[in-house]
Amino acid sequence: MKEQDCFRRFLFEELGVRGEWVRLQDSWQQAKQHQRLSDTAQEQLGQALAAVVLLSATIKFDGSLILQAQGAGALKTLVAQSTHDRKIRGLARCDGEVVAGKLSEMMGDGRLVITVEPKKGEPYQGVVSLAGDKLADVIISYFLQSEQLETKVWLFADETHAAGLFLQELPAQENYKDDWERVSVLANTVTKDEMLSLDSEEILYRLFNEEKVRLFEAEQVTFECSCSQKKIEGTLLTLGREELEGILQELSTIDVGCDFCGKKYSFDEVDVKNILYGRPVKKASQRQH
Ligand SMILES: [Zn+2]
Repeated sequence: MKEQDCFRRFLFEELGVRGEWVRLQDSWQQAKQHQRLSDTAQEQLGQALAAVVLLSATIKFDGSLILQAQGAGALKTLVAQSTHDRKIRGLARCDGEVVAGKLSEMMGDGRLVITVEPKKGEPYQGVVSLAGDKLADVIISYFLQSEQLETKVWLFADETHAAGLFLQELPAQENYKDDWERVSVLANTVTKDEMLSLDSEEILYRLFNEEKVRLFEAEQVTFECSCSQKKIEGTLLTLGREELEGILQELSTIDVGCDFCGKKYSFDEVDVKNILYGRPVKKASQRQH
């Protein structure tokens, strides 16, 4: 059976190198279906989603990991999010036509912020400049900066699939530099076609059939949006009373759509009062959404 929407770790037991592989199909198509994106922007979003799954598996945490790239170019924003149990969502925002090219040209000056939001405890962030030909290059420099670990990443996406491959030296492996070099050179021969169409075992066999690779259990990746009535209310609250009442003077309801999943939320005057002044003990206007 084909491995779709699937993530797997692997390990070169004798070399001090670990790896990860991911391929998305349905989750990728669901993640982008509510956005109108050019092929070029779509390809970047697919790569970001594959990347965020790989990143989410590099740390032990319970919560969400968010990759957010923001630049001054035509491709303004890329957001990709994965929970510890590989529930993903993402979006891209463009300002004009994104001409296919280097990431640094498409996104312009900017930065990539990686945020870990644990369910318990404070969020923490790492930031790296968007300088690089590809998103994968930016992620490689993020790991070099944040963990001083040699890392290699390959990311690919087309209309139907998104896939990623990740290699990282294990800490304290100075004696293994030759092995690291050999394995990364082998991995670098991987093609977009192979990554988007082959299962993990086939890929690993094609690339590393001379090496001893231990492949771990497959994990399912799914599209799931974490938006909720409560979160949207929180966002509305940040607009302030004047702004909200101003909108309601012109429109009977405030309608908000989630950019990630397309879900619609609607708030009328009573709802907005409840948001601003707290809900009455007796819920006068319980709405079904
Ligand atoms: Zn949503």
